[in-house]
Amino acid sequence: MTFTIPFENSYAALPPSFYTKLAPTPVKAPQLVAYNAPLANLLRLPDAPETELAAIFSGQTVPEGASPLAQLYAGHQFGSFNPQLGDGRAILLGETLGTDGVRRDIQLKGSGPTPYSRMGDGRAWLGPVLREYVVSEAMHALGMPTTRALAAVLTGEEVYRETALPGAVLTRVAQSHLRVGTFQVFAHRGQKTELKQLTDYAIARHDPQADGPLGLLRSVCARQADLIARWMSFGFIHGVMNTDNCTVSGETIDYGPCAFIDDYHADTVFSSIDQMGRYAYSNQPRIIVWNMAQFATALIQQFDDPSEALPEATQIVHAMPARIEAAWLQHFGAKLGLSAPTAADTMLIEDLLKLMQDQSADFTNTFDALARSDARDQFLDRTAFDHWITRWHQRIDSEDTPQATMQAASPRIIPRNHRIEEMIAAAVSGDYAPFTRLMQALADPFHTDDTDLMRPPTKAQRVPATFCG
Ligand code: AMP
Ligand code: MG
Ligand code: MG
Repeated sequence: MTFTIPFENSYAALPPSFYTKLAPTPVKAPQLVAYNAPLANLLRLPDAPETELAAIFSGQTVPEGASPLAQLYAGHQFGSFNPQLGDGRAILLGETLGTDGVRRDIQLKGSGPTPYSRMGDGRAWLGPVLREYVVSEAMHALGMPTTRALAAVLTGEEVYRETALPGAVLTRVAQSHLRVGTFQVFAHRGQKTELKQLTDYAIARHDPQADGPLGLLRSVCARQADLIARWMSFGFIHGVMNTDNCTVSGETIDYGPCAFIDDYHADTVFSSIDQMGRYAYSNQPRIIVWNMAQFATALIQQFDDPSEALPEATQIVHAMPARIEAAWLQHFGAKLGLSAPTAADTMLIEDLLKLMQDQSADFTNTFDALARSDARDQFLDRTAFDHWITRWHQRIDSEDTPQATMQAASPRIIPRNHRIEEMIAAAVSGDYAPFTRLMQALADPFHTDDTDLMRPPTKAQRVPATFCG
C-alpha cells in the first residue's frame, strides 16, 4: 500500500474513558462510488488508485498512522436524556492538518458495530450514504458550516432495513466530532476531571481565545445562532436536532432525515420519526436555544460550585434568541437586497413569507425569481403580491446594488427531496448519472442553469417523508 494519510491525531491521546479503541470491521468487496478530490487535496491526501481508496475508505484496510476509535457521548433525543449513545456505527480514523492549517477528523460511517451500537447493526446502506454525500456537499457550496463528504464506498455486503439493500460506508470529514452530548456524558456521570479535560481540548481546538468554560459556551452559542439562521434562510430542516447532533464547531452534522422545503410552510416536517413536529422548520431557532441550555448545564458541572457559574451561563443562553433574530434579519434581509436591514424590515420579510405560505409558493424559486427575474409568477393571487412588491420597491430604492446582494444570498438550486430519492433509486440499480448531475449542479448553486433540477416536485413526485436510514 502506497497511500499514506498524514495523520496528526489528538483525540486518541485523550484518556481511554473518552472512547473505545477498535478497528473498523473489514468488508467483503469494497468498490469506490464517489471520491471528493478537492477535499482530499485540502486534507493533504495523495493520489491513489481506486482500489486502494476503496480499501481504506470502506474500513477494509486501516491506513498507517491511524488510531481508530469509537467516541463516547450521550444526548437528549427528542427531549429525553439518553445517558449513553456513542459512535454506534462510526470509527474515527484520525485527524489531519489541512493545507489551510485546520485540523479535521476523518471518520468512517457505517463501518461496523462498536460497543455503543445498542440494537443497531453498525452499518449503513447506499441510500443514506449518497444522501449525506450530496446534501453535505451542497450545504458546503451554499457557504454553510458543515461536515463534508470525502468518499462513498459500496461494501459488497447486504444491509437489512425491512429489505436487503446494498451496504456502503461514508467517509465524513469534520472540524471535530465534539457534540453537546460529549460534554453531557461526563457531566451526567459526575466525572469533573474528564469534563475539564474535554473543555480544555475543545477550547484548544476550536476557541483558543475563549476564557474558560463560559467563554467556550459564548463561542458555541454564537456559532450555532448564525448556523441556524443560515439554515432558515435556505429553507433547510435538519430533522434530528438532538443534543448529540449538535456540534461544538458550529458545523451542521448528521444528515439523516433532513430536507429542504419546496413549497413554503413554517410548520413543515419531513422526518418520519418527528411525530410531534419538535424539529419543524420554524421550531429550529427555539430548539437550538434549548440545546445550548443543555450545553450550559453540562459545562457548569465542572465548577467547584456550579451555582456560582449559573447566572452568567443563564445570561449567555438567554441572549441567544435576540442573537438568532439578528442573524435571521441579516440573512433574510440580504435575500430582499437589503445591505443593512433593521428591525423595521422584519415585517417586510415576514409578510412575504406569509404570502408564500398562504399561496404555497416554492421557497427557493420565489427568492431566486425575486433576485433574478420576476417573482410574480410564483403567486396565484398577484394582487396581494403586487401590494407587497410596491412596499419592497420603496424600501430598496435607497440600495446601491440590491440585485447583487440578493443573488449572493439566494441559490438557484437546492437538493430537492424528490431528486435525491430519484438519484438513490438510480444508484441502487447501478446508474450513477443522476448522482453526478446533481453534484455538478449543486457545486455552483448560485449560478447553475440546470433549469430541470430547479423545478419543484409535481404532486406525483412529491416525497413527504424522510427516514433515518
Ligand atoms: P442518530 O439519530 O443518527 O444521531 O443516531 C443516534 C445514535 O444511534 C448514535 O449513537 C448512532 O451511532 C446510533 N446508530 C444509528 N444507526 C445505527 C446503526 N445502524 N447501528 C448502530 N448504531 C446506530
Ligand atoms: Mg447522530
Ligand atoms: Mg444519523
